[in-house]
Amino acid sequence: MKEIACNLLVIGAGPGGYVCAIRAGQLGLDTVIVDMARPGGTCLNIGCIPSKALIHAAEEFSAATAMASGKNHVGVSVADPRIDLVRTMAWKDGIVGRLSNGVAGLLKKAGVKMVAGSAAFRDGKTVEVATETGRQLIRARHVVIATGSTPVELPSLPFGGNVIGSTEALAMTSVPATLAVVGGGYIGLELGTAFAKMGARVTVVEAAERILPHYDADLTRPIARRLAELGVEILTSTKARGLASGPGTLLVERADGAEARIAADKVLVTVGRRPVIDGWGRDELVLDMDGHFIRIDDQCRTSMQGVYAIGDVTGEPMLAHRAMAQGEMVAEIVAGHSRAWDKRCIPAICFTDPEIVSAGLSPEAARSAGQALKIGQFPFSASGRAMTLGSDMGFVRVVARADNHVVLGIQAVGTGVSELAAAFSLAIEMGARLEDVAGTVHAHPTLGESFQEACMKALGLALHA
Ligand code: FAD
Ligand code: NAD
Repeated sequence: MKEIACNLLVIGAGPGGYVCAIRAGQLGLDTVIVDMARPGGTCLNIGCIPSKALIHAAEEFSAATAMASGKNHVGVSVADPRIDLVRTMAWKDGIVGRLSNGVAGLLKKAGVKMVAGSAAFRDGKTVEVATETGRQLIRARHVVIATGSTPVELPSLPFGGNVIGSTEALAMTSVPATLAVVGGGYIGLELGTAFAKMGARVTVVEAAERILPHYDADLTRPIARRLAELGVEILTSTKARGLASGPGTLLVERADGAEARIAADKVLVTVGRRPVIDGWGRDELVLDMDGHFIRIDDQCRTSMQGVYAIGDVTGEPMLAHRAMAQGEMVAEIVAGHSRAWDKRCIPAICFTDPEIVSAGLSPEAARSAGQALKIGQFPFSASGRAMTLGSDMGFVRVVARADNHVVLGIQAVGTGVSELAAAFSLAIEMGARLEDVAGTVHAHPTLGESFQEACMKALGLALHA
């Protein structure tokens, strides 16, 4: 068996693992990264990037369809718009391929050795990799577990045939006439909206009382309204029970116990993701767990010396940018730098229509932390920029401490608000007060002005509302 030794071994080349390896290489650490799939992990290959490409294509088609039907007011008309999903997917695959090759190039440039195969621990310092050309043993002083997550499967709706997960949905080559989405969370609503825009008749089956239950109702109301406009039927407090015996039918149970049948050429199950904690020799280690996740401290150290864990395998929020920030930090710790997790917020974006952004504390979370608050909310109906973009639904809301005006949280819902996430996070990370944002000259006309106005409103100094 071939054997190599290194200082740092990273298992998994998703956003957590590849960022960790690149930074480690840049810092001069002798680093090896192993993955059985293409570099980039879930996010780049079957998650964030392909889903956003599909969402964009669907929005383009939807806008063209609205123009063709005379429903848009900007004075543009088109005839007979069509979407060719085979070409859309080829375009999406091109983006994914470019980015994955880019990650491989960055790893190489940083001097990181890549090993393609499936890794399994023999002990805390030794990992065996099954590669195409045989087994390889890697001995490392430090190991980072970055094995990510996979979709949760419902026992009543196992994946296969017409029951699909996000990976299969992102590879479809024709738009199904009817699509049932089980789970109205991030993936279900992002992809469900996209397929509705591409012409599918979509039904969302959500077990909770409302869609996107992680966000407050003020933020999700505009999404529900837009889904209704798109003809999406939303069944809340409803659970999927399985496929009915007839073709293309999903059986669901409402809260009152009543059963219903839903036409569904495809059933997309998106009821959450679970960490990948099996298949890499966890039994050979003694790792403390936190439920299904690997328990880590504020330096991403596990209960075993020299073994770190980062990304989705370590808990919520299961987001790419959290994994990346952890990866970068761990590389620096292994290189001897003094680092610990001290982030004030991890922003979250839901790429629905309209989009939702949340950074820091919601009003409810801040109140339950015992804070007296000042809250300012500015509607996009008063924003010149929102009007010129053809969509003035939604708002920006800022939550600050009443005593010293330090900003604790910022949320927004509206078209294109995802790009405001950086401004929101920066304000919280820098410890900005309402006066800091209100006193910053914001370019006009931009959606960012609405953040400034929300801060002014919280101070009782609103100009445009
Ligand atoms: P992963 O990206 O899951 O990577 C883990 C890697 O480990 C994989 O490449 C896997 O092949 C490898 N691996 C596992 N076991 C082994 C083994 N034994 N040997 C070798 N290799 C192994 N997040 C966002 O922040 N924004 C978004 O817009 C977003 N959209 C998403 C859309 C979808 C449809 C999905 C499914 C997810 C989305 N996410 C999004 C979540 C995001 O993809 C994850 O949070 C992120 O990929 C986690 O990174 P990671 O490095 O922890 O793990
Ligand atoms: P999710 O947790 O966002 O949503 C799952 C939904 O399914 C919840 O609303 C839940 O109430 C519902 N549910 C659970 N069991 C059910 C059942 N039996 N019947 C009906 N509904 C049921 O999970 P997801 O959409 O699968 O996404 C997984 C994770 O991926 C997210 O939590 C997030 O971390 C990440 N992600 C992020 C983005 C983004 O950042 N834009 C996009 C996609 C995915």
